Amino acid sequence: MSLLKIKDKQFKPYISSEKIQEAVKNVAAKINAELKDEFPIFLVVLNGAFMFASDLLKEINFPCEISFVKVASYHGATSSGSVTELIGLTEDVTNRTVVIVEDIVDTGLTLEKLINVLSKKNIKQYKVATAFFKPSSLKNNIKIHYTGIEIPNDFVVGYGLDYDGLGRNQKNVFVLA
Ligand code: 5GP
Repeated sequence: MSLLKIKDKQFKPYISSEKIQEAVKNVAAKINAELKDEFPIFLVVLNGAFMFASDLLKEINFPCEISFVKVASYHGATSSGSVTELIGLTEDVTNRTVVIVEDIVDTGLTLEKLINVLSKKNIKQYKVATAFFKPSSLKNNIKIHYTGIEIPNDFVVGYGLDYDGLGRNQKNVFVLA
C-alpha cells in the first residue's frame, strides 16, 4: 500500500482491507448468533457507513430489513438549542429491534442524538454496530454492542470515511501521515 494524497494532506496505510474484512466477519458472526430471532431492521447511517453496511449485511444469514438514513442537526427556534432529525426512515420501527450501522464512533455525540430520536419511536431495543471505534474519544457512556476495530484518537480515511468528500472509496484505511 502506498501513500494516499487527498488535497493538501498525505495519508499513510493504517489498516489493511484483509484486516477489516476479518473484523467485519467477526461482527457479523456475533449479530448472527445474537439477533437471529429478532427480525431486526438495520439503519445504515449515511454517508460513511455504506461500505461497512455492504460487507456486513452480505454476511447476515437471517431475514432482516435495511434502511438508509441521514442524521441532520440544526439550530431550531427552540430554547433547547440544536434539533436532530432523522432523514429517510420510512419504515415503522414500533416494537422492532433496530441495529444502527455506523462507520466510526468518535465522541459518540452523533450516536447519542440518533438514539434520542429513536427512543421516541417505541422501538423494542437498539443495538449499535460500528466499523471503527475510538474509545478514548468517547464523551458519553453509550454502549457499543458490535465493534469492528478499535483505534486510537487518529483521523482516518477510507472504507467509507472521507477527508473533504474524498477517500471514501478506498478499501484500506489510511491515517494522516
Ligand atoms: P462523533 O459524533 O462520534 O464524534 O463522530 C461521528 C462522525 O464523525 C462519524 O460518523 C464520521 O463522519 C466523523 N468522524 C469521526 N472520526 C473520524 C475520522 O477519524 N475520520 C473521518 N473521516 N471521519 C470521522
